[in-house]
Amino acid sequence: AIEVTDLKKSFGQLDVLKRVSFNVKAGEVVAVIGPSGSGKSTMLRSLVHLEDVTGGTIRIHDKALVENGQYASAGDIKSITTGMGMVFQHFNLFPHLTVQDNLELAPKLVKKVSKAELRRQSTELLAKVGLADKADAYPSRLSGGQKQRVAIARAMMMNPDILLFDEPTSALDPELTGEVLRVIKKLAEEHMTMVIVTHEMNFARDVADRVIFMDNGEIAESGTPEQIFGNPQLERTKVFLNRVG
Ligand code: ATP
Ligand code: MG
Repeated sequence: AIEVTDLKKSFGQLDVLKRVSFNVKAGEVVAVIGPSGSGKSTMLRSLVHLEDVTGGTIRIHDKALVENGQYASAGDIKSITTGMGMVFQHFNLFPHLTVQDNLELAPKLVKKVSKAELRRQSTELLAKVGLADKADAYPSRLSGGQKQRVAIARAMMMNPDILLFDEPTSALDPELTGEVLRVIKKLAEEHMTMVIVTHEMNFARDVADRVIFMDNGEIAESGTPEQIFGNPQLERTKVFLNRVG
C-alpha cells in the first residue's frame, strides 16, 4: 500500500507538487491523468526516490520513505524502494544485451539467486508478456511495443509488489499500444498494486479502480472511473476530458 500526505516538490521557485495526498491500497489500480506539466511524472518519480521531495510524507507498506520532508536512512530507502518497479515511457533497455540478459542484469547484481533460477524466472516472464521467441534478440531488433513488454518483464524480475508506469504507451505507434495495455491489464487482473500515469482514457476507464486527475501540481479531483469520466465535478476536469476526447 502507498500513503502520500501533503507531498511537496519545488524546482527552485516552481512549486510542482502542492500538498498532494492520496492512498493506494494493496491490489488497487490507480490511473493518474492530467495536462502536461501538471506534476504527474514528478509525483510518480518521488515514490521511488528518483526525486527528492521538498516536504510531506510517503509511506510504502507502512514504512516511511520520507516523513515530513525527512528522509529515511539510505539503507531503509533502498529496502523500501526495492519492492517497487517502474516502467518509463522510453524503455531504457541495454542495447548491448539480449532481451533475456536485460531481464537478468539487475537481479543478478542485487539478489542471491542461482543463474538457473534467474533463467527460469526470465523465461517464464518472457512467455507471460508474449515474447518467448525473442529471448536471444537484441533490443534494436524489436518493435516499440515489444521493447515495452520487455521493460515490463524486466521490472517484474525484481518481484515487485508495486508497479509504477509513466505513460507506458505514449512513445508507441497507435497500433502497438494494445499489446502493451493487454500485459498491464493482465497484471491488474492478478491484483498487482499499480499506479499508471496515462493519456489512454479508455484504458484508464477499463482497468483502474480509481482515477486521480492532477492539475497544476494538485489532485484536483479523484474518484471511480464512472465518477471521473461519467460525472466529473469540476469545470477543469470537464475541460481536460473534452480536450483529450
Ligand atoms: P507530461 O504530461 O508532459 O509528462 P507531467 O504532468 O508529467 O507532464 P512533470 O514532468 O511532473 O509533469 O513536470 C511538472 C513541472 O515540473 C513542469 O513544469 C516541469 O517543467 C517541471 N520540472 C520537471 N522536472 C524538472 C526539473 N528536473 N527541473 C526543473 N523543472 C522540472
Ligand atoms: Mg510526465
